Amino acid sequence: MRIARFTTGEDPQYGVITGELDAHGQLEDDAVIVALAGDPLYVGIKLLEEEHRVADVRLLAPVLPRSKVVGIGRNYAAHAAELGNDVPDEPLMFLKPNTSVVGPGDPIFYPQQTSNLHYEGELAVVIGRICRDVPPEQATDVIHGYTIGNDVTARDLQKQDSTWTRGKGFDSFCPLGPWIETDLDPDDFAKGRRVQTFLNGEVVQDASTADLIFDIPTLVAAVSSVMTLLPGDVILTGTPEGVGPMQVGDEVEVAVEGLGSLANPVAKR
Ligand code: MG
Repeated sequence: MRIARFTTGEDPQYGVITGELDAHGQLEDDAVIVALAGDPLYVGIKLLEEEHRVADVRLLAPVLPRSKVVGIGRNYAAHAAELGNDVPDEPLMFLKPNTSVVGPGDPIFYPQQTSNLHYEGELAVVIGRICRDVPPEQATDVIHGYTIGNDVTARDLQKQDSTWTRGKGFDSFCPLGPWIETDLDPDDFAKGRRVQTFLNGEVVQDASTADLIFDIPTLVAAVSSVMTLLPGDVILTGTPEGVGPMQVGDEVEVAVEGLGSLANPVAKR
């Protein structure tokens, strides 16, 4: 099931999207969104009579993390190497504030404080229930679904500061979307799903989730051994090799096989 958040110009609502994805991860033109009563994370799936063509609504970030987005650093060997880093012995965690989250099509604002703004295309895991100390074999039970994330990073500030808070934390530094796919599981990603990033239409990252150093169950276990996870919290699983700069006026698009694609323009703040 694909769960999205959307607006027709009125208050945001949740809905379920039907319709197939084409070879480029785009929804077919006549795809429909059926509205839901309330937030499915809290009230389950309650379909309403109301439906719209997806083309006629604006999709929003499919989840608003109540507490946190947990980033995982250096979780693909080739990416760790490209920035001159070793692969960590255990998952390297950092936080992005929930105020960094934006949706499909929303601008990524280029802050004045940086001169090296990078995209990082990533698979994102959305947590479905409150949990702590989750064993890896039970990770599936606490996962609501999967979406696409862009872990936007001010690379110069990340290197200059001794924590990553500023380099990772500006408003608009966490595009998420376009929807949450609930029908996949960690094995689908362990077997390999393609993750690609396009900058102005050109491929700049192209990798497989099979190459994650720490797989999804390991990440859920590791993060939940440190902090309680709440419904709607997001874990960004790390970016593959090929990170690079964006400029004002660029468009960046992240595609994950089976999840669609998430595109955002870069704008002056
Ligand atoms: Mg990242």
